Amino acid sequence: MKLASYWHETSEPFRGAKSEPVSGDFDVAVVGAGFTGLNAARRLAKSGMKVALIEAQHVAYGASGRNGGHLNSGLAESFGSASAHMGEERARRLWRAYDQSIDMIERIVEEEQIDCSFRRAGKLKLASKPSHVERLRTMADDIRREVDSSARWLDRDEVRAELGSEAFHGAILYPKSAMAHMGRYANGLAAAAKKHGASIWEHNPVTARHKVANGWKLTTPTGSLTARQIILATDAYTTSAFGYFQRRIIPIASFIIATRPLTEVEVKETLAGNRTYVNSLNIANYFRLTPDNRFLFGGRARFSAASNQRTDQSSGRLLQQQLLSMFPQLKDVAIDYCWGGLVGCTPDRLPRAGKADDVIFGMGYSGHGAQMSTLIGSALADIAMGRTDTNPLEGLPLQSVPLHTGKPWFLPIVGAYYRFKDALP
Ligand SMILES: Cc1cc2nc3c(=O)[nH]c(=O)nc-3n(C[C@H](O)[C@H](O)[C@H](O)COP(=O)(O)OP(=O)(O)OC[C@H]3O[C@@H](n4cnc5c(N)ncnc54)[C@H](O)[C@@H]3O)c2cc1C
Repeated sequence: MKLASYWHETSEPFRGAKSEPVSGDFDVAVVGAGFTGLNAARRLAKSGMKVALIEAQHVAYGASGRNGGHLNSGLAESFGSASAHMGEERARRLWRAYDQSIDMIERIVEEEQIDCSFRRAGKLKLASKPSHVERLRTMADDIRREVDSSARWLDRDEVRAELGSEAFHGAILYPKSAMAHMGRYANGLAAAAKKHGASIWEHNPVTARHKVANGWKLTTPTGSLTARQIILATDAYTTSAFGYFQRRIIPIASFIIATRPLTEVEVKETLAGNRTYVNSLNIANYFRLTPDNRFLFGGRARFSAASNQRTDQSSGRLLQQQLLSMFPQLKDVAIDYCWGGLVGCTPDRLPRAGKADDVIFGMGYSGHGAQMSTLIGSALADIAMGRTDTNPLEGLPLQSVPLHTGKPWFLPIVGAYYRFKDALP
């Protein structure tokens, strides 16, 4: 088992980063080369702006190169509870924005000729317990009536026809959801940003920012640059150089394993429907097939804010147990990859984007950002160019999290609470 992201290991790395020290004067400096920063830089460069993209490690080092590859339509919650929380109009706009973010990815993949196996696979949200069926069925009706007429409820037998597991009791089908090879998508975005004229530096963490006459000076270990505006796209990986944001985003680790490629027979016996799947537990598992038919299975195996070799490996073992509890037929199938990454969360699990602390920012996707980050990247580019009407999150305040100083010590307590709830019938 290799402790590495399958997406990193099976995509051609971006090779267009600048080798010289960081320097120059730019219209916009984008910090962080995940989907948010990459698409912001791509769009700005395409619009004729002089843009620098600075990444601490390498393109898609963060969540964008480590996620489950589920491009989910709509919000994670029901439309009714979203409306109660934020008002009907905003809930409707935000729901549409998630759908539009997948349309945007589809368009970019086409326009920029990114070979990343993008596919409208559809998603199933699976009822893990009989007691969840009523709530999910009502949620399906609510979604179908209010925001997505293509969504529908599948009963246990319909689910069983496309999923080789006895663990589920029905599901909501979201046909607009999609999947892609996330490493190839990210590296393709980077190549497109460079093609349009963006200057990209890797292995250059921004360690400080200072106000200068007409903008900002950003310092990195190899040099510094100036820019009129900063776009901060660092999500869960935000460091103390941007402490205002670090105190407002809670990093939570999530982990993934991927098996060896399954045979055609094994695919038929497990994920014949070839969609994206998530179950209905509070500490949910999510799974899908990769383009080469590996079973990719993820979850918040342990509630912590750390992802490193030790945590990833022990989480991988827990995940394998969870996988086998749902698909015992995979007991002799080797796990080839295991990795972890950090999810940037907000207390209400909704992302935030706009301007704060003199910086244009987009983050806090709360595990539902593989699609939305592309759209927010584009909206942040618009803000830098003087337009705010494309930002679906405009006006949602980015509040500090009580007791959170940047290191979320309280996560094990939250994890224990949800584990207890999931253990109830
Ligand atoms: C294990 C896992 C599974 C997930 N699964 C899904 C899923 O299936 N579906 C879904 O919708 N979402 C999923 N997500 C969430 C999704 O991946 C993220 O919401 C999205 O990728 C965020 O993109 P981003 O560009 O905003 O941030 P990131 O991709 O995290 O990029 C931030 C970048 O900023 C860089 N950085 C930080 N500080 C600095 C600095 N000072 N200077 C320079 N660079 C800096 C980091 O190195 C990093 O590369 C998952 C996340 C994880 C971790």
